[in-house]
Amino acid sequence: MSKVKKKVKAIKIDLDKCNGCRACEMICSSFHATPKYSSNNPARSRIRLIREPLRDIYLPVYAGENAAAECMGRDKYVIDGKEYDECGFCRAACPSRDIFKEPDSGLPLKCDMCEGEEKPLCVQWCLTDALTYEEREEEVEEEEKPDELEIGLEALVDKYGLQKIMDAIARKSMSKKG
Ligand code: SF4
Ligand code: SF4
Repeated sequence: MSKVKKKVKAIKIDLDKCNGCRACEMICSSFHATPKYSSNNPARSRIRLIREPLRDIYLPVYAGENAAAECMGRDKYVIDGKEYDECGFCRAACPSRDIFKEPDSGLPLKCDMCEGEEKPLCVQWCLTDALTYEEREEEVEEEEKPDELEIGLEALVDKYGLQKIMDAIARKSMSKKG
C-alpha cells in the first residue's frame, strides 16, 4: 500500500467555555436543511448539547459513526464533581436513544465538517470559543473508504434488512422501465 497525505480536521471542545447557548445546533441544522438555510431544527443537528443549567452542565457532542446495535454496558463520567449522563460523551447514533437520527426518516446523522465550507459553521457561530478548529497533514496508508451512498445503504439495510431493500430496488427499477 502506498502512503498518501491526508488532511486531518479537528474541532477542539473546551467544556469550561460552553455556556449552552445552542447556536451551534441552530446553524448546523440550518446548514443541512433542504434547501440550505430554509429551516432550523436542533433534532437535525450533527452537534447536540447535553444541557443541564441547574447543575451547570453544558456538553457539546458531535455525531460520529452509526452503531447498528447498542453496547452491552454503559459509561458514566464524573469530571470536577459533575456527573454526566450515561453515554453522554458517545458520538454514535444507536438503537438505545433518539439523538443523532434524522427525525422523519430515522436515518443516522454524522458530522461532515460542513463539507465545502472553509471552516465548520458551528465553530464560526460559537462566540465563546468553546469550539475551535485545527487542521494538520498526516501521512497515512491509502485505503478505500465507503462513500456516502454506501454508508446510507448500510444504515437502510441495518434498519429494514437486505431482502426488503433489494425488493424495493427491484420494484423501482421495474417501474422506471415501464
Ligand atoms: S462541523 Fe458542520 S456538520 Fe459538523 S457539527 Fe459543526 S456545523 Fe454540523
Ligand atoms: S455555540 Fe458554543 S457556547 Fe454555544 S452551545 Fe455551542 S459550543 Fe456551547
